[in-house]
Amino acid sequence: MTTPPDVLDAADPLAAFRDRFVIDDDLVAYLDGNSLGRLPRATVDRLGAFVREEWGSRLIRGWDDAWVDLPVTVGDELGEALLGAAAGRTVIADSTSVNLYKLLHAAIGARPDRDEIVIDATNFPTDRYLVESVAAARGLTVRWLRPDLVDNVTVDALADVLGARTAVVVLSQVDYRSGTLVDLPAVTRLVHEHGAVIVWDLCHSVGVMPIALDSADVDFAVGCTYKYLNSGPGAPAFLYVAERHLSAVTQPIAGWWSASDLFAMSETYEVAPTIRRMLSGTPSVAGIVAVQEGVRLIAEAGVDAIRAKSEALTAYTVELLDDAGLEIVTPREPASRGSHVTVRAPEARRVADAMIERGVVPDFREPDLIRLGLSPLSTSFAEVEAGVRILVDCVGGTRR
Ligand SMILES: *Cc1c(COP(=O)(O)O)cnc(C)c1O
Repeated sequence: MTTPPDVLDAADPLAAFRDRFVIDDDLVAYLDGNSLGRLPRATVDRLGAFVREEWGSRLIRGWDDAWVDLPVTVGDELGEALLGAAAGRTVIADSTSVNLYKLLHAAIGARPDRDEIVIDATNFPTDRYLVESVAAARGLTVRWLRPDLVDNVTVDALADVLGARTAVVVLSQVDYRSGTLVDLPAVTRLVHEHGAVIVWDLCHSVGVMPIALDSADVDFAVGCTYKYLNSGPGAPAFLYVAERHLSAVTQPIAGWWSASDLFAMSETYEVAPTIRRMLSGTPSVAGIVAVQEGVRLIAEAGVDAIRAKSEALTAYTVELLDDAGLEIVTPREPASRGSHVTVRAPEARRVADAMIERGVVPDFREPDLIRLGLSPLSTSFAEVEAGVRILVDCVGGTRR
């Protein structure tokens, strides 16, 4: 017998955080926080104040007041609270895709005598497309890993393709479809044993689990802020560069924001000696302000507590899906997955549409996957129970 959801909600130490979000929709269950996280109440106030008081009254003086430093100061906050990164290694900028483009060039530059990039065919489209285009531009060959969706990239499978030609390995810590959690420390060690560097994509892991980039010796990392960091549609992403690479790292969109003195407007380009060298142009200040609120909310709850609830939510979801006899394409061990659970169903698109019709928002992924994203600070066990019940009902409907 599964435990009733109200009992689980009553025992949840993070339950009160749900009230910290704007929840004034008519949904039965929002199970797509891994695509777009809910809006924190604090962000509504903060953005209002920013627009009125900072933008409205400080105008151009705002840049000197604080805005110029925000990509780095908020990067530091995010790095320290969520990435296990010391100050000076993380910046908020651009989109994940643009940051990945910059880091791919940076990583290739760190291994100039090698000519292969390794990536898995299960990776997120933007990662695959960027690897292909940057490899073509720089004259490198792409070595594809073709792992099973659920097992995903293992140390053994990776060991088979790494060699003296491997320059860069690009992987997602959590697979966007299956939710499989890849062993970041072990994989990073293996890549280093082969003399290559790694770029981690943290889009589906940041904010839902403890991450320790510095201590795992990670070279480069990117991630987005509009999923589990609740920073809003199109909020700027982050990138991380290990301290040992900082003094030599180069990137292809060198602009005035990556110059050593932004306002010197000098004749010749001199690159900033700090993490600012990864910036390019004027950042979205409103976007960074929203990222700061998202990071603070997560820091307040604590990533360890968030991870514990995330595991409880995914375990509960798996239990309910098992009871209904649905096919799950997510690892069965809580420690081996992120914060979403994926179901394989015939006519998945029709099922997802039918669920939305009944007030449950899941996420459909071609061709036959339905993802249930569980955002630990805003998703309740009651929501999960209602969402899965309606999912089961909708799947049943397609069988008749
Ligand atoms: C969401 C996601 C992205 C998104 O990239 P954008 O540039 O923000 O559109 C990239 N990689 C992964 C793994 C993602 O899950």
